[in-house]
Amino acid sequence: MQIFATDAFVLPLPPGHRFPMDKYARLRGRVEAARLGELQVPPAATREQLGLAHDLDYIERVHAGTLSAKETRELGFPWSPAMVERSLRSTGATISACRAALEDGLAVNLAGGTHHAFRDRGQGYCVFNDAAVAARVMQAEGLIRRAVILDCDVHQGNGTASILAGDPTIFTFSIHGAHNFPFIKETSDLDINLPDRTGDEEYLEALEYGLRESLGRATPDLAIYLAGADPYHGDRIGRLALTMDGLARRDHLVLATCRSAGLPVAVTMAGGYARELDDVVAIHLRTVEISAELAGVVQATPRP
Ligand SMILES: [Zn+2]
Repeated sequence: MQIFATDAFVLPLPPGHRFPMDKYARLRGRVEAARLGELQVPPAATREQLGLAHDLDYIERVHAGTLSAKETRELGFPWSPAMVERSLRSTGATISACRAALEDGLAVNLAGGTHHAFRDRGQGYCVFNDAAVAARVMQAEGLIRRAVILDCDVHQGNGTASILAGDPTIFTFSIHGAHNFPFIKETSDLDINLPDRTGDEEYLEALEYGLRESLGRATPDLAIYLAGADPYHGDRIGRLALTMDGLARRDHLVLATCRSAGLPVAVTMAGGYARELDDVVAIHLRTVEISAELAGVVQATPRP
């Protein structure tokens, strides 16, 4: 299984910033130690690739560092050349993971899932929309005709829904907390809004329905899975109440459903804001382990 890591491209943040930048290097270290796949550094996404899902003017202004103060505030990151490089690599990692998934069935980006990025602006720590860009790159290269985006981050994939609205070839599914950011939601092809404190069983039941519906309606050649760590009960901003075991069952349900349908999957990590950074890393690591189990790289851990 090919795994793409971008933790070498660090985004410089002011002290006390809420974004858990350290999780990427820690996760890569754990993935490497567990030998879950073949780690690689992806190429940066090109302007041409980004232009399949973003306005050229926005792409240029990100590169040049000429976003307005308001745009920078909405993005949540201070601009720097390193921020640009990191965003390009993270999007490049999802493009590479899609290509690898089409070859091998499953592949992982240890970052990505930047689903709040719109066509012409960034939002909520998301500069470019990696899933929308990557799906369109696969189409432009003639590798696929149709794709499905399965967004299980606890926040709605509003940027993805907006960019891909009116595109019948890429189906957008988002299952998220009804009362979470973004407070004004966009319309995905299928949205499931969950009440606060939703637990494992209700979540998995809703997800099972959502997957069946999405795969049935999308008839896809490729899936991109956003495995957010933030539906976790210990998350500071997630509002849901899934356990670590529930999140592992979620990953297994998504990936096994795709595998049994013969559908290649590119897995991305998306958000995670638990009080303990170790919890975020553990949840993401479990996602990569389950991917490796289903790809046949490692033996499944026996369940109690
Ligand atoms: Zn999130």
